[in-house]
Amino acid sequence: MIDLFANAFAAVQGSVFQRLVEPLLHAAGLDGWLELAFDGVEFLLVGLLEIAALVVVLRPLEALWPAERWPSRAGVGTDVLYTLLHRLGLVPLLFFLLLQPLADAVDATLRLYGFIPFTLERLVPALADRPVLTFVLYLLILDFAGYWQHRLQHRLRWWWALHALHHSQQRMSLWTDDRNHLLDDALGALWFAAIALLIGVPPGQFLGLALLTRFLQSLAHANVRWSFGWLGDRLLVSPHFHRVHHAVGLGHEGRVLGCNFAVLFPIWDVVFRSARFADPLGPTGIADQAQGRDYGHGFWAQQRLGLQRFWQALAGVRLPARH
Ligand SMILES: [Zn+2]
Ligand SMILES: [Zn+2]
Repeated sequence: MIDLFANAFAAVQGSVFQRLVEPLLHAAGLDGWLELAFDGVEFLLVGLLEIAALVVVLRPLEALWPAERWPSRAGVGTDVLYTLLHRLGLVPLLFFLLLQPLADAVDATLRLYGFIPFTLERLVPALADRPVLTFVLYLLILDFAGYWQHRLQHRLRWWWALHALHHSQQRMSLWTDDRNHLLDDALGALWFAAIALLIGVPPGQFLGLALLTRFLQSLAHANVRWSFGWLGDRLLVSPHFHRVHHAVGLGHEGRVLGCNFAVLFPIWDVVFRSARFADPLGPTGIADQAQGRDYGHGFWAQQRLGLQRFWQALAGVRLPARH
């Protein structure tokens, strides 16, 4: 089955490349870009499949079991735009162009001093012939790192200034996962790159990891009133669990400035005592929106206001109360 799918995918990729991309690049005299463009076609097709999966699987769930009913879908469209920009490659391409030279420089410097990036399999040789266990271990370590990144996004004032954009959505849906400030995305990419440098991420496993994680994160944001039950909610982040993270009055308040930070596995919230399982669902957003604070409605306004909050936080300007 997987082979069948992989073959069909490769055939479509080859055909799109040969009929469309290759002639275009050739006509433009850009033959040097052919190899990169071939990978680009793969990236684009994977993104289209992801979006198709979201629409086909998650959208009906939102229609059947909505967590909230809205008078209109105004404001959801901006989140659709964020998803398209991310999954169809524009944001990743931007980071690739901006961060790749930096990554190359770091890599070259480390090698100069004799440091060869680790891989988990090298650290634990017993993993070499156990691909499933290796996959699970990578997933757990990356998720643990994701939990602490998210804790810092709420704890550090300048990082919250950016992350608040994600929380400002009052109509949270399957499209909300990618609603982030671009600078926040860049910091996330650097965080991930640093972890990857420490434990290594073999390319073959990376796509599987990324696809699975992204689908589950979209599900976690979906407007669906699902919890996975007492045990299930403790094993995997459910729409209910993450909706409480976005709830007004809970999501950015209290001892650790929020709750339910986990990306995939709530175990980290249990271990570090930031879990809330029993709260009923309420409205989502940030408390100060009720006092009229504007986080912007369109993409550019949201990015501009995010930068403004970021500079103010760095400059130590006391913002109006966050609670
Ligand atoms: Zn958050
Ligand atoms: Zn979220």
